[in-house]
Amino acid sequence: MSEPLLELKDLRVKYGNVEALHGIGLTVRRGEIVTLLGANGAGKTTTLRAISGLLRPSAGEIRFEGKPIHALPAHELVKRGIAQAPEGRRIFATLTVRENLMLGAFTRTDKPGIAETLAWIHRLFPVLEKRGTQLAGTLSGGEQQMLAIGRALMANPRILLLDEPSLGLAPLLVKAIFQTLREINQTTGVTIVLVEQNARAALKLAHRGYVMEVGRLVLEDSAQALLSNPKVQNAYLGSR
Ligand code: ATP
Repeated sequence: MSEPLLELKDLRVKYGNVEALHGIGLTVRRGEIVTLLGANGAGKTTTLRAISGLLRPSAGEIRFEGKPIHALPAHELVKRGIAQAPEGRRIFATLTVRENLMLGAFTRTDKPGIAETLAWIHRLFPVLEKRGTQLAGTLSGGEQQMLAIGRALMANPRILLLDEPSLGLAPLLVKAIFQTLREINQTTGVTIVLVEQNARAALKLAHRGYVMEVGRLVLEDSAQALLSNPKVQNAYLGSR
């Protein structure tokens, strides 16, 4: 197994006086796809937002490539290679698709590299090229999700944080997007942390998973083992 890329140690995050994460410890290795599962309110989004520097931990540590990063501003983390495609897409509706993508490259100055990444993203999601001059707000939900992922990839990240990429999408589209995520991981080796309510799809894609319950991690295993774990099946996979 390769070395750890991202490590969370006893991470605590508070909203005001209320603690939402009660000491999270997890490790993500280079090249892995790791999923965080859990019910609404378990703390998945809070964990991702702490990693990407949008929330400050009240205690504990986040290390990226061996160095502490939890005191750094979010834009510095993008420069270091951490990019998030947030929940609810958060694309800029009144900008074009192309402008949204270019904003993802705001920390980069290597013009040829940016053009290369853009061409690659257009190959991954041809619809983003086709609709390049269209306002992003006019895209369908699935296309907006592709745009959010594409925009995060424009930063040329080492780790891609994805918050609920399947939210509100039809099953076929979820399949297509998850297949593209696998391709991105396999061809570039980019590490992926995936927060998902769609546990089945997430575990089929991921190498490993963690299960969160009310601000704590309660289970960690290979994705395959989690898929066949009766507790996980009952709580998160439904009957099928
Ligand atoms: P969901 O899938 O619903 O987004 P989640 O697992 O991502 O759930 P979080 O959104 O991280 O969970 O929420 C964890 C806890 O923190 C919940 O109890 C939630 O109510 C609380 N929380 C989240 N955001 C805030 C906020 N801005 N202010 C106060 N409390 C918050």
